[in-house]
Amino acid sequence: MNEKTPAKPEIAPVDFEYASSREATDLVEIDDSYGLWINGASRSPASKRYFSTINPATEEPLARIAEANERDVDRAVKAARKASDSWRRTPGKERAKYLFRIARMIQERAREFAVLETLDGGKPIKESRDFDIPLVAAYFFYYAGWADKLEYAFPGLKPEPLGVAGQVIPWNFPLLMMSWKVAPALATGNTVVLKPAETTSLTALAFARLTAEAGLPSGVFNVVTGAGPTGASLVAHPGVDKVAFTGSTAVGKAIQRSIAGSPKHLTLELGGKAPHVVFDDAPIDQAIEGVVNGIFFNQGHVCCAGSRLLVQESIADHFVDKLKRRLETLRVGDPLDKNTDVGAINSEAQLDKITELVDVGIEEGAGIYQPACELPDRGYFFKPTLFTGVSQSHRIAQEEIFGPVLSIMTFRTPAEAIEKANNTPYGLSAGVWTTKGSRILWMADRLKAGVVWANTYNKFDPASPFGGYQESGFGREGGKHGLLPYLSGVR
Ligand code: ADP
Repeated sequence: MNEKTPAKPEIAPVDFEYASSREATDLVEIDDSYGLWINGASRSPASKRYFSTINPATEEPLARIAEANERDVDRAVKAARKASDSWRRTPGKERAKYLFRIARMIQERAREFAVLETLDGGKPIKESRDFDIPLVAAYFFYYAGWADKLEYAFPGLKPEPLGVAGQVIPWNFPLLMMSWKVAPALATGNTVVLKPAETTSLTALAFARLTAEAGLPSGVFNVVTGAGPTGASLVAHPGVDKVAFTGSTAVGKAIQRSIAGSPKHLTLELGGKAPHVVFDDAPIDQAIEGVVNGIFFNQGHVCCAGSRLLVQESIADHFVDKLKRRLETLRVGDPLDKNTDVGAINSEAQLDKITELVDVGIEEGAGIYQPACELPDRGYFFKPTLFTGVSQSHRIAQEEIFGPVLSIMTFRTPAEAIEKANNTPYGLSAGVWTTKGSRILWMADRLKAGVVWANTYNKFDPASPFGGYQESGFGREGGKHGLLPYLSGVR
């Protein structure tokens, strides 16, 4: 190394070496059962009820998780309320120290978190290792940086925390969705009650312990585990000032109805059916990789997945042939294998939903293509799937499948591409592949989507806001915009 090269920050390199899935599993400690995380400690649930969380790649139970009822939610919200008075008065630079410490500790324990996320949720280890966990740390670092600069973020205004944030998150990116909500909430002086998804509670509970080790004052961060009814109790609790939800459009609408007329603040990040538009001048090999990443990343359990491919007619046959050949090379199977591209479907219920919509696609007359790969005997797996000959009115072109299924359509002109791309009740994201810069800008102006990626897909950065239009929800997470939902006095 050149002596003049500045020293890199002291971050312990993460060693991901392990010989087998069994050895990887031994890297994490999983308790037999987990209580609720309330007021800085694990508590037995008043409900006295527990449910199992399983490994979707093997169908084996991993642990029992407490199921919070209304009384449990009430205890958690009261703990957050009590902690709120001093947390909101804690100077921003002190709050920042906790968040920086948390970010560093996530980096130090990246391996443990990555393995746990993969075991409980089914995503390939290379994704939790290289995408989820590094980004989780990055969001905490980023919002730590804002904690003492809120007056500069909103000059001339008086930003104040809202109080207690009730946050309900999904199972596709458990820790990452948590970081998008928890980091800005804490940075702005709010306290939190988090409700993780019932199939993926383990990393949120491991994170809760980490906050205690980081010295975060008790009650500032709480976790109530359980399914929909637990989430509904949290959302409805009168002591919650702010509701942040990421999940399905159906549940988002139910939440909006349930708090209508109350003074609660709300942000919703819901479903999507993103168009991925490929023009005939696109760099084809890169576009193929972009399209594959757009739909098969995380088994297609991605709200911004590029699930509708719109390819220009003049290259459609060639492009689809190449895509099929690329599908043959995808490795589907054990999520803990570092070479796996497509892991396990998160739950049996989700596998049923995917299967049902794929059957609908076949009945509607679309042409199905799946590679010849073999699926493991146990666990929930689904082959990467393409549908050709899809028409705009097909359900597989309209409804979110949330699985590794791509619906392919064609277009002739840019205007037709826009018309087809925007023919959706959603509006979360879109992708465009072309070498013409002017066409990228022309498309970005007209695509009804919160995020438009050009010649790339699924790229995230904490400084960049993310969120949707129409049935994809409202409010933004990430960037300075991500502070707004947690503050009053800033508009
Ligand atoms: P999916 O259909 O993909 O499982 P959901 O929207 O059902 O997504 O789930 C997202 C999160 O919302 C989960 O944490 C889930 O437990 C929670 N949830 C489900 N129903 C409700 C509800 N009625 N109110 C609040 N939260 C809910």
